[in-house]
Amino acid sequence: MSFGHFFLPGPTEVHPDVLAAQAQPMMGHRGKEMTSLIAEIDLPLRRIFATERPVYVSSSSATGFMEAGVRNGVRRRALALVNGAFSQRFADLVADCGKELEIFEVAWGEPHAPEEVRRRLLGGGFDAVTVVHSETSTGVLNPLGEIAEAVRSVEASNGEEILLLVDAVTSLGGAAVNTDDWGLDWVLTGSQKALALPPGLAFGSASRRMLDRAASLTGRGQYFDLIEFDRNWAKHQTPNTPALTLFYALQKQLERIQAEGIEARLARHQAMAERCWEWTETTGARFGLSLFAPEGYRAPTVTAIAVPESHPGSEITKALKARGYTIGSGYGKLKDATIRIGHMGDHDLDGLNRLLRELEEIFEG
Ligand SMILES: *Cc1c(COP(=O)(O)O)cnc(C)c1O
Repeated sequence: MSFGHFFLPGPTEVHPDVLAAQAQPMMGHRGKEMTSLIAEIDLPLRRIFATERPVYVSSSSATGFMEAGVRNGVRRRALALVNGAFSQRFADLVADCGKELEIFEVAWGEPHAPEEVRRRLLGGGFDAVTVVHSETSTGVLNPLGEIAEAVRSVEASNGEEILLLVDAVTSLGGAAVNTDDWGLDWVLTGSQKALALPPGLAFGSASRRMLDRAASLTGRGQYFDLIEFDRNWAKHQTPNTPALTLFYALQKQLERIQAEGIEARLARHQAMAERCWEWTETTGARFGLSLFAPEGYRAPTVTAIAVPESHPGSEITKALKARGYTIGSGYGKLKDATIRIGHMGDHDLDGLNRLLRELEEIFEG
């Protein structure tokens, strides 16, 4: 089937050229071919992360690098900002790794307010904060730059170091993530979301102070020890055997992203999101649809649409499937109350418009 039918909010559709790049012979991962591949992808990755720091690549799914954030970045106690399923996972990981946890939850579908985050932290006793930039379960984009500012202001007034650990899985590559400008300490994403690669790689960038914190902690484990990632990346290597075929795909995709330009890529995502919002508020509204996330806090990569009881999310996705299109039903407890369209990666407005036309026909019955 031609490209432009698979709008799941992860994994996203992979361009044929990127898929094809995987079909290359194996190589020794300690040899010169691999170090030159890593040398080649190093700078493009830093550009996408908007950082001068290295971006490590792990042969794992994104959750692996969420765990890395906790193991390497939480000393004793973290405040977990929860507003959906993935931020709840981040919170659970803090407890699973044996650290103390306080959850600050707002309703699923709402963003976190920086001023409230500041108030929670001012009481003291936290050395890290976890946050999900784009909550894929609800389509909410948290105001990350302002949350980072709030964390920094508490650090300054309390005189405590508080690291900000960010899951940017459905934002990075489709929304602005200004890692260095915002002073983020750990930023991670996975291959199968806005970067539109096959699943199986995680990417993460650590601030200098994150690495200093890591070096002072025990219990980092081995597979997700950032000190090892850093030591190896400096030699353009990976700690363990890398998923070579995915690195081939990554090399090709970074070429494609550079050719489009990061600004153009973000603008394309914004245009798709705005089209999706406009469609929901005009055509969709005729059938009782509405946007789940509030204005000003909607992700440019995934839109969650609240659907009426007469059309449960799982039935809509089934009807679309019969027409050759895939979107996501609601996530977890929102399964039937919402549908989610992943308009990220290599999708474009034309493809999205074709999908919306199908959706309209389904509602017209
Ligand atoms: C998909 C997703 C994850 C989990 O990624 P895996 O690659 O399945 O581990 C984490 N956070 C967010 C926001 C996601 O969308």
